Amino acid sequence: MEEYLLEVRNLKTYFYNDGTETPAVDGVSFELKRGETLGIVGESGSGKSITSLSILQLVPKPHGKIVDGEIVFKGRNLIGLSEKEIRKIRGNEISMIFQEPMTSLNPVYTIGNQIAEVMILHQKLSKNQAKEKVIDILKTVGIPNAEKRIDQYPHQLSGGMRQRVMIAMALACNPDLLIADEPTTALDVTTQAQILELMNDLKKKTNTSILFITHDLGVIADSAEKVAVMYLGRVVEYTDVETFFEDPKHPYSKGLITSIPSLTNRVERLTPIQGQVPRPSDVTEGCRFAGRCKEARALCVAEEPPLLSIDDHKTRCWIYSDRWEDTKDEGVTGNGRTAAASRES
Ligand code: ADP
Ligand code: MG
Repeated sequence: MEEYLLEVRNLKTYFYNDGTETPAVDGVSFELKRGETLGIVGESGSGKSITSLSILQLVPKPHGKIVDGEIVFKGRNLIGLSEKEIRKIRGNEISMIFQEPMTSLNPVYTIGNQIAEVMILHQKLSKNQAKEKVIDILKTVGIPNAEKRIDQYPHQLSGGMRQRVMIAMALACNPDLLIADEPTTALDVTTQAQILELMNDLKKKTNTSILFITHDLGVIADSAEKVAVMYLGRVVEYTDVETFFEDPKHPYSKGLITSIPSLTNRVERLTPIQGQVPRPSDVTEGCRFAGRCKEARALCVAEEPPLLSIDDHKTRCWIYSDRWEDTKDEGVTGNGRTAAASRES
């Protein structure tokens, strides 16, 4: 069997509007083994959703385009497959659940019919066989009275129940890979915890790999084995989840971690670090985080660091390079602050 189920290599997905080029995803690489969960974390606008849409070849057209890289799934590059070929994979070998289930469920069909449709399409089941399986899968995702619920319409269900239906639909075809893009963000905290527990249980039972996209580090701590931190279209840190929380390297990751109110009680969502993620169109030649970084030196503003490897831990920060010591006395950042002054602030 192949080492990785999914390998994303140097993925670049850009948007072209009114003559401007927006590098939404700019050279992203990561890999996922079978049965493993990789959490992709980052603030809004960092390129998480466009990364996941790129994997499924669903980049918004006509302005968005994958301009470089490879997405190798089960040994096959998905980029460049025909629409017919990618459809066989989408919703079959790779499923996706989104933040807002109402936009993905069809309001005019019963939930039973919608799940059955997925099964009939991908598994070639008869209607009666499918009905049995739909009831089974609704029970698996914790929907009570499944026999009755199959005849209900999406608007008759609560948000939490709808998200369970979405998970049931995503799992109806036993996917190898489940992409979950902020699946619990729209839910209250209790329901959020239940859905996460459900996904963790299902992963153990089915050995499905999960790409878990979130801006919530608590979710990562609860469900992922590995973490990729994205900032403005780039991966800035990539490591296993224990190392990430014990020894984060990138100043951005450190900021994210210290801003979590508490891993067990995350009612509040704080703005992690002062300032906002710049727009991808405002990218400069330096480190993309330099404008918000307390450690930033002239080198950081002048030149973007590469993704450095420290054992298996990857981080895109000059602090961990030999060149950092040489730059000690320069001290002036692009904001005109000295390094010393910005450390005090
Ligand atoms: P995230 O999911 O991390 O919040 P996205 O992947 O949705 O971020 O978006 C990343 C960036 O891609 C956005 O900041 C935006 O600049 C750009 N982008 C996303 N969708 C479009 C679009 N339809 N047209 C133009 N630019 C877009
Ligand atoms: Mg998103």
